[in-house]
Amino acid sequence: MNTLEIRNLSKTYTNGVKALDSISLSVGNGMFGLLGPNGAGKSTLMRTIATLQEPDQGQVFFQKIDIHKNPQSLRRQLGYLPQDFGVYPKISAYQLLDHFAVLKGVINKKDRQEQVSALLQQTNLYEKRKKAVGTFSGGMRQRFGIAQALLGNPKLIIVDEPTAGLDPEERNRFHNLLSEIGENVVVVLSTHIVEDVSDLCPEMAILSGGRIVLKGQPNKLMDSL
Ligand code: ADP
Ligand code: ADP
Repeated sequence: MNTLEIRNLSKTYTNGVKALDSISLSVGNGMFGLLGPNGAGKSTLMRTIATLQEPDQGQVFFQKIDIHKNPQSLRRQLGYLPQDFGVYPKISAYQLLDHFAVLKGVINKKDRQEQVSALLQQTNLYEKRKKAVGTFSGGMRQRFGIAQALLGNPKLIIVDEPTAGLDPEERNRFHNLLSEIGENVVVVLSTHIVEDVSDLCPEMAILSGGRIVLKGQPNKLMDSL
């Protein structure tokens, strides 16, 4: 069992905005939904879990290791799809994914070929592999982002607002893709869209104003909303 343990995380930006206010969460294998409106602190929390940002207070443990003290312990185990990820306008999808695979430590060329091709197929982008990601539609970009996040078989996957701006059909495709992620992985999905959590997540928390205001199972929580 993989374990993600978030303890008393707080973050106040230099402009005085308290984005995280004593957040604590325990997350095991499977998909965990973090639901909240814009400005709730979701991206701040996701960046903090991905060790791209330091909290003012509190700790994040993955497999019982404090990841801000040992960011190296997380790197190869982490897949992260940020809310706005940079899109390289010219390079082909295949090449770009191949580069990311190198960065993930998939050094062997044949392993890389297998992984990159398999992920492009899984995300339904194989026919588009020679096209630049900059020419992709929003839905295709997000699917590319998931392919990137899945490189190197991570044990912790962080996806930040992945369905924002997608039409219902693309959102559905994206849900199917996420539901194919193995069960032996911790997935944290942030969203402001209720269906994302009700369709995908056995466990969830609602974030508002930097605080967890509710947590539990979506089918039970939705009745009380
Ligand atoms: P810190 O408070 O952690 O030092 P900064 O205020 O220096 O952070 O901002 C870091 C980055 O976030 C900058 O690139 C800035 O443009 C961007 N940023 C600033 N304010 C906001 C905001 N309200 N929402 C999202 N990003 C912001
Ligand atoms: P969400 O992802 O739920 O929209 P964020 O974590 O992006 O929430 O933002 C939480 C709060 O912190 C918001 O009020 C936002 O404007 C502010 N904020 C986010 N990033 C920065 C930053 N770099 N500098 C200053 N304020 C920020």
